[in-house]
Amino acid sequence: MNTDVIIVGKGIAGLVLSLLLKKKGIQHLVLDRKSKKKHFALAETLPPSSMPLLHSLDLLKIFEKNAIRKTYGYHSMWGNTRIVNNNFFSQLSYKNGLKIDKRAVLDDLEQLCDENVMCYEKILNMVISKEEVRVEVENNHQKQTITAKMIIDATGRNRAILKKLNIPIRLYDNLISFSCHLPKVEHPKLTYDVFVESFEDGWGIVSGLDEKTNVLSIFTNRENLVQLKLREYSNWQSVLSKTTLLKDFLVEQSEVKIIGSDANSSIANYLSGENWMAVGDAALSFDPLSSHGIANAIYTVREASNAIEFYVLTGDRRGFVTYSKTLFSVFDSYYLVKNELYKAESRWKESSFWKKFFQQGEERGENKTHNFPRQSGTGIILD
Ligand SMILES: Cc1cc2nc3c(=O)[nH]c(=O)nc-3n(C[C@H](O)[C@H](O)[C@H](O)COP(=O)(O)OP(=O)(O)OC[C@H]3O[C@@H](n4cnc5c(N)ncnc54)[C@H](O)[C@@H]3O)c2cc1C
Repeated sequence: MNTDVIIVGKGIAGLVLSLLLKKKGIQHLVLDRKSKKKHFALAETLPPSSMPLLHSLDLLKIFEKNAIRKTYGYHSMWGNTRIVNNNFFSQLSYKNGLKIDKRAVLDDLEQLCDENVMCYEKILNMVISKEEVRVEVENNHQKQTITAKMIIDATGRNRAILKKLNIPIRLYDNLISFSCHLPKVEHPKLTYDVFVESFEDGWGIVSGLDEKTNVLSIFTNRENLVQLKLREYSNWQSVLSKTTLLKDFLVEQSEVKIIGSDANSSIANYLSGENWMAVGDAALSFDPLSSHGIANAIYTVREASNAIEFYVLTGDRRGFVTYSKTLFSVFDSYYLVKNELYKAESRWKESSFWKKFFQQGEERGENKTHNFPRQSGTGIILD
């Protein structure tokens, strides 16, 4: 089988890219690895500032249809013990964000491009060279070979294609998350159902999933011993004992499933090559504190789709360079804003989690920039 573009990975980035290429009439296949992993709902939120992007790509209706609810603000307790009401009223074009059912969004996106999705169980062989892109997959004991002009890594933080290409990844921290579903507690001091609080070993966020359930996620560093404790819900009470409000959301339960994942800030050393590109989290991944992971994934595929179209139609790769420069610049801006936010919490400057934000060099993001011009006017953190 021959196609123009192979997309590996069927998350938000892979599916939205498929949709955009379909609109452009570019032949492609999304390779979807069969998985027994169950989806774990995180009640992800998209801030108001990402609504224009969704609107511009005709995606807003899909996201609104699959929204758990519109969001009009959130609470935070960061830097001191005052509860801050961050309402979205002062936002420019959209006064609301969205809390989404990500599984439902993915299902709807897939329906719109299902003729381009191909399931497989195993990749038997993959060749990505200057001369060819060839992938051999096995499904139901049948082998299939697909050749293409280029291949896209949309495998999220797994970065399966980048690994295959030996592309180094710049990890800026070792943030990890532990999340669980708990019976809903409505806090008398809070109006919005999203609340963020920092504490000595990291930070946590509680977000309402439905009438009965809250999702509680705790973020810390891989090297922090607390992360070992967070693997067992029975330890959460002691880990969160010094928090002001987060601890109030803990409910006594015997069996609580904990899901852990990487949540670091990272970017691949190269975002595109002769006949490949990385998109979404595979290209650059943001700290979930930014609330911009999904919007970023969509932004990267919008930019990538233009470069891919130009390459497939003309053989000209100049769009790949522009794509890489743009994304490095976005990451630089993101990284500076993110660090400023962490530095606004100075109560535990000596703790293993917070001290790196106050060390020399970190302050101005030294050794971290990619020497590409920065974008101005970010304001990307949680708004
Ligand atoms: C705890 C937590 C909370 C978050 N909260 C928010 C939030 O509130 N708002 C927000 O905007 N973002 C949030 N994010 C980030 C957001 O989820 C991601 O940025 C976004 O999902 C990235 O989309 P993606 O398609 O690039 O990657 P993914 O969603 O990771 O999709 C990658 C796809 O590739 C597949 N895949 C992986 N390996 C292979 C392989 N070898 N072969 C084939 N397929 C493969 C996977 O199964 C998956 O389908 C959060 C992240 C975490 C960890």
